[in-house]
Amino acid sequence: QAKQRGRDGMQQYSPAMESNGIERLVLQRELRLALEREEFILHYQPQLDLASGKISSVEALLRWQHPERGMIPPLSFIPLLEESGLINQVGEWVLRKACAQARRWQLAGLPLRMAVNLSQRQCQEGNLIPMLERVLVDTGLAPELLELELTEGLVMHDPEKTIKALRVLKGMHISLAVDDFGTGYSSLSYLQRLPLDSLKVDKSFVQGLPASGEDAAIITAIIAMAHTLNIKVVAEGVETAAQLDFLRNKHCDGMQGYFLSRPLPAGELFNFVRRVPVLPE
Ligand code: C2E
Ligand code: MG
Ligand code: MG
Ligand code: MG
Repeated sequence: QAKQRGRDGMQQYSPAMESNGIERLVLQRELRLALEREEFILHYQPQLDLASGKISSVEALLRWQHPERGMIPPLSFIPLLEESGLINQVGEWVLRKACAQARRWQLAGLPLRMAVNLSQRQCQEGNLIPMLERVLVDTGLAPELLELELTEGLVMHDPEKTIKALRVLKGMHISLAVDDFGTGYSSLSYLQRLPLDSLKVDKSFVQGLPASGEDAAIITAIIAMAHTLNIKVVAEGVETAAQLDFLRNKHCDGMQGYFLSRPLPAGELFNFVRRVPVLPE
């Protein structure tokens, strides 16, 4: 039933996990112990810069290695972390772990920017900025090598407060990206008030490329709009050479997806980036 294996060997998101109250309570309790039991792990997915053909950054993606259930994907438990407030503790763990990793890679001669996803609840937490400052100092990572990914919903939640917080982060020289772009309702006039470095176009718009005229039109319009505002565009979920060709032709700035690589454990990511030559034109 619910325990199908996905392509990453991860359990697929199952509605049963969401609807069954007992199951949720069990998971909530287990999540509370997961941090101290060191059951969380980060995988890293490389992002390709299309102008240079180089891997410029990686995104840290959280997984839960459950002792009995196996590897659980983030969308199955992040909502539970948010509900219980545990997301702040786990979010800090993710940041620390990811920044320390990026610093180690930098010292090993591989300076990659580290992108970390932030949840809405984490941003509402009053001490996000001091926490970030502490993590950067403790790990020794230059803020230029950190990027935070925010969702449209988060950005639209409390616009005035968000703009202020993002300006402070920008002032710290941290890069800012809007994730899953196109799935929310952020308006152009609002986006241009934010100090954004990039938009990550949601994979649902990439999947139909190049055949779908509608997706092609949407992506083309997003790229044109973003470039007018001096914001870079990264395509998520690129799975085929034809999609990559299309995006290159449209002057998309970056791409991420299975066509380049799945999210990988730290050691494999390091070997992958070392091994992969600059992508040919
Ligand atoms: P996201 O930030 O949009 O991350 C991209 C998701 O798309 C990842 O799923 C990744 O494995 C998947 N993906 C990458 N390339 C492809 C592709 O070519 N095709 C397809 N079909 N999928 C692809 P994942 O790792 O399951 O993460 C899902 C979401 O969970 C993330 O979406 C992000 O919103 C959230 N998440 C992950 N880690 C964290 C975290 O540390 N903190 C928070 N707050 N959220 C996280
Ligand atoms: Mg993301
Ligand atoms: Mg996304
Ligand atoms: Mg997302």
